[in-house]
Amino acid sequence: MKSVDSTGDFLANCKNVKLSYYASDSENLTYCQALGNSSRDCMDYTNWGANAELVYETSETGLGASNIKFSSGCGISSNNLEYCYGCVGSSNLFGCVLLKKKEYCIFNKQYTKEEYEQMVPKVKAHMDEMPYTDKLGRVYKYGEYFPPEFSPFAANETALMDFTDMDKEQALKFGLVWREPKESEYKATLEVKDIPDHIDEVKDDVLKEIISCEMCKKVFRIIPQELAFCKKHKIPFPRKCHNCRFKDLTHFRNLPKWYKRSCDCKGVKSKQGIYKNNVLHPNHGVDDCQNTFISTYSPERPEIIYCGSCYVAEIA
Ligand SMILES: [Zn+2]
Ligand SMILES: [Zn+2]
Ligand SMILES: [Zn+2]
Repeated sequence: MKSVDSTGDFLANCKNVKLSYYASDSENLTYCQALGNSSRDCMDYTNWGANAELVYETSETGLGASNIKFSSGCGISSNNLEYCYGCVGSSNLFGCVLLKKKEYCIFNKQYTKEEYEQMVPKVKAHMDEMPYTDKLGRVYKYGEYFPPEFSPFAANETALMDFTDMDKEQALKFGLVWREPKESEYKATLEVKDIPDHIDEVKDDVLKEIISCEMCKKVFRIIPQELAFCKKHKIPFPRKCHNCRFKDLTHFRNLPKWYKRSCDCKGVKSKQGIYKNNVLHPNHGVDDCQNTFISTYSPERPEIIYCGSCYVAEIA
């Protein structure tokens, strides 16, 4: 929406944003996701933004973040951080964790500006001389993000599952951790089939029940506010757990997977012959449109996908 020279999905008011997903009011981004409010000149960066610049291979970072690399959970007026976690209001940190309003620290130890400037290049050189090698034999010199096997979370416990269709086999092949969920210690006290169809007939004592999800069979409860919301808006009582409901919700959006496509506009109608154009398109007239572009709609899908020029000609 209102984006120029950009490819990806869910982009709004963006300029020169490439292969990115959920970004707004930003420019010069590549491989970024979920950034907003004036993020610029960033790459391989997920989540947040808010006046962030020069951020690379970093997540959950923003609000005046500048020149942050290989880090997570940093920002809030921070700059020049590398390999940091949870550092805020700070500058010139290397390999630090949870520091606030600090500068010139390496591995959370305080140095003078001069010492810091001498020491950091030595640490980087050491990383190149003795790099970490992960289980799959991948080598991590300076300039790589932390190996996924260091993550305290398994891939299937993270938001990765909301944005990919990755399964266990693929995750393990990629060197990610996969953990089978523990069996719940709670036993269901209410089956979905025993819940009244109409919300008006659902009594407040349902709040005490442990309900078995009709989809994944895991158990869940609901809180008074949820029940009140359903009653107020005449929404049927949920039959699925929160995770399954969230999955249903996200099912409607395309995943951040990029397909090179050619325009489905073939002269005066769509390739499928279903849609007849309202006007003659100035870029190709009665001939097939030759434009190609990147889309999150795979070529196998049934939707008619026009290039920007043909689309604009039709809706103008
Ligand atoms: Zn479920
Ligand atoms: Zn076209
Ligand atoms: Zn066309």
